[in-house]
This record gives sequence, C-alpha cells and structure tokens, in this order.
Amino acid sequence: MLIAGNWKMYKGPAEAAEFCAVLRGRLAGLEGVDVAVCPPFVSLGAAVQALAGTEIAVAAQNVHWDAEGAFTGEVSAAMLLELGVYGAIVGHSERRQQFGETDETTARRAAAALEAGIWVIACVGETEAEREAGETEAVLRRQVAALDPHDRLVIAYEPVWAIGTGRTATPELAQEAHALIRSVLDVPILYGGSVKPENAADLLAQPDVDGALVGGASLEVESFAAICEEAAKKQ
Ligand code: PEP
Repeated sequence: MLIAGNWKMYKGPAEAAEFCAVLRGRLAGLEGVDVAVCPPFVSLGAAVQALAGTEIAVAAQNVHWDAEGAFTGEVSAAMLLELGVYGAIVGHSERRQQFGETDETTARRAAAALEAGIWVIACVGETEAEREAGETEAVLRRQVAALDPHDRLVIAYEPVWAIGTGRTATPELAQEAHALIRSVLDVPILYGGSVKPENAADLLAQPDVDGALVGGASLEVESFAAICEEAAKKQ
C-alpha cells in the first residue's frame, strides 16, 4: 500500500518543514505502508531535510521530460534527484484541465522521469460529463494506454468529479475502474478523490486498490496519519 499526500499549492518551506517534523513523529513505528508527501517545488528541499532518516518519501507534483533547456517554469528529474527527491506526480487533472496537459505530455513526462531514475504517479480519471455520457471506460483505456509499463510506475485513478468535491466514488465504482485499468496496465493503482479517514478503510479494502492519493485530507497531519494507519491495517 502507498499513501501519497498531494499538497497542491499549499505550504511554503517553513510550513512544510513544520508539518514533516510532526508527521515523522506521528508515523514513527508504523509499518506495512509506504508514505509519500508531494509539496510544491519550493518546499521540496525543506521536506527532504525534515524527513531525512525516515522512510517517508518526498515527491514533486510535476516533472519535465528534458534534463535541462529553455522551458520556463519547468523542473527536470535530474534537478529533483539532486535535491533528494525520488518521485513525481504527472498528469494530475488540475494540470490537464487548467494548464493544457494532455495524454501525450503526461506520457512524455512519465517516460523521461522513469528513465532518469525516479518513480512516477501518473493520474487518470474521467470528468463528470464523460461519466454521464457513458465514456468512462473509453477515457480510462485511452489515458492508460498512453503510458508504458515500468516497475517504478504507479497509476492514480482520480475521477475528476470526486477531486476536492467531497464526493467520493463508492468502493464498488472505484474497484470497477481499478480492475479495468489493471487489465490495460498491471501496475499499482491508487485511488484519489476526497479520501478521508472515514472512507479510507472501505476504499482500501477493494482488491485492486493499492493505496490512495490524498489531496485535502493530506494537509493536516492528523487526517493524513489516520489514512496511513488505515492502510497499514490492510497489510
Ligand atoms: C488530488 O488532488 O489528487 C485529490 C485527490 O484531492 P482531494 O483528496 O482533495 O479530492
């Protein structure tokens, strides 16, 4: 099981360091679950320092496909590695919807990051309109088929209508989507979309749910730690 916290554009370096210092104490001794936090770029270094010597990983929220170049606003896997960051999210729905990310750019980012030696959480998921139009299966097949298998690749199934809305997919609906995704690409699959301590156990109990990508509930140590504890019970 992997529980990853996507902080989005929250927590500068000072707040990140404080959060990680509390988290490392709170999770000390917890076994049977891999835990990662994904701070904004500027807070990655502070998180790496504050979590040094622990098993809690630090990952970025995006990564570019080239090692360096004229790409204003972008960061490469080589730069992340230099900082002690060994993972990255790619293709989050907020990047797809607001910053022009596509299946193709997501796949390019994923392939280059994996090649450079970091692990990747690639996000997929249908919008509400796509679900209502009966297109969920086709959308997921298309998004997942764009990715190449790799032993450091993780997929996050995040139905867009469930992100930050408080509307969680039912465990059955999540399981159905995860089984479909696994039939296309057999890698670990996280569920994401309004995961909280109260609904984590039922979602994580599904056979094809291998963990969670947590947004809002990862911003407080208590709720994030409680979700990590639920995951640890599933081992
Ligand atoms: C996310 O942003 O990846 C996410 C799942 O957000 P939330 O948990 O807030 O729905």
